[in-house]
Order: sequence, then C-alpha cells, then structure tokens
Amino acid sequence: MMRRFEGEKLLVATHNAGKLAEMKSLLAPYGVEVVGAKELDLAEPVETEDNFAGNARIKAHAAVKATGLPALSDDSGISVDGLDGAPGVYTADWAETGQGRDFGMAMARTWRELEARDAPYPRTAQFRCTLVLAWPDGHEELFEGVLPGQVVWPPKGAEGHGYDPIFQPDGQDVTLGEMSPQDKNRISHRARAVKKLIETCFA
Ligand code: IMP
Repeated sequence: MMRRFEGEKLLVATHNAGKLAEMKSLLAPYGVEVVGAKELDLAEPVETEDNFAGNARIKAHAAVKATGLPALSDDSGISVDGLDGAPGVYTADWAETGQGRDFGMAMARTWRELEARDAPYPRTAQFRCTLVLAWPDGHEELFEGVLPGQVVWPPKGAEGHGYDPIFQPDGQDVTLGEMSPQDKNRISHRARAVKKLIETCFA
C-alpha cells in the first residue's frame, strides 16, 4: 500500500547543502517544513551497499531512528558508460581528499579515465537519484529518477554542485553547471524522482 505523507515536518537525511537546497525548492509548493540532517547534528551513517537504493534505505532509516521523524533520503551519483558505470555509488568517494571533498579532482579523474580508455564520443552518462521516504513504523516508499546526457571537458559553469560542470544533459548545449537552479530543477534526476514522490505521497 502506498502511503501519503501527512506530517508537517520532513527531515531530509542529507548533509549535502546542494542536495538540501534543491529538495527545499522542489518541495516548497507543498507546504512541508523541510529540515536538514546537519541542522539537527545527525551523524552520517556508513553507506555499505553497492547500489543507490540500498544506501538510500540506510540513510533514511538511520535518520528516522535518530529523530523519530519521517525522513527522506537521497542517494545519487553519476554513472559513466565508458567507465562501466563508475563512479556510480562511489561518486562522492572520488572527491574525498581526507580534508573535505574536491570535485575538481573528481571531475578530472573522470575525464582522465575516459581518456586512458580512449572512450568513444559522445561519452554518455546518467545522473541517477534514488529517494527513500521512511516512517517510524518502518514503512518506506522508494522513487527513482534518471537524467541522461554526456560527460564533456573542460568543466563549464559555476552553478549547481558536484559534477554539474562536466555533465551536459541530452537536448541541452550547456552543462548543468551553466544552468540556473530553476532550469536544472525542471529536468534533473532529483526533480524526476521528486515528481514521483509528490504524485504518490504529497499531491
Ligand atoms: P551521496 O551523497 O552519497 O548520494 O553522493 C552523491 C554524489 O553524487 C554527490 O557527492 C554529488 O557530487 C554527486 N551528485 C548527485 N547529484 C548531483 C547533481 O545533481 N549534480 C552534481 N553532482 C551530483
């Protein structure tokens, strides 16, 4: 049975400021108060699964357990076809330096590995987003969104976050890094997953 969200407050189980901002903006029309995991000082659980859905479930249920609130988690990343789907669930790990995340480094590695394999053009890739909304009684709803496109070099644009500057969505001639937040939010993997979430749980 699908379950609607009836509460007033929704915890978004992410420490990623970029994701939280996008989620707030996407849920703004539905009158839910959105709070982030960082504002509540929640610990970040270890993501031990090898797929987006598994890690999204870990994050959502850990946040519910810590707060007693219903929680929405997002596990997402970029899968590059010429790299057999890498970095995939390791998208954030490729940016890890030991002193915070460096996405310039992660984007450079992505391009370097494509070059090392002499990957054909267009260098197709997808951004993927899995959302899990979990309740204190253990019920959960899961939604997925995909944005197809290609990896381009050099990085372009200062909008967005993460790998946005090297990702050009199908049907666009600019990267996500060059698109306004409003334009990105019309097409993104996260927006597509949120649309399904809204249709099922909020509309
Ligand atoms: P997660 O927080 O473990 O789900 O890691 C997902 C990673 O994928 C993030 O660190 C981002 O860098 C990247 N990512 C997810 N969504 C986007 C996006 O919309 N634009 C750019 N990078 C993204």
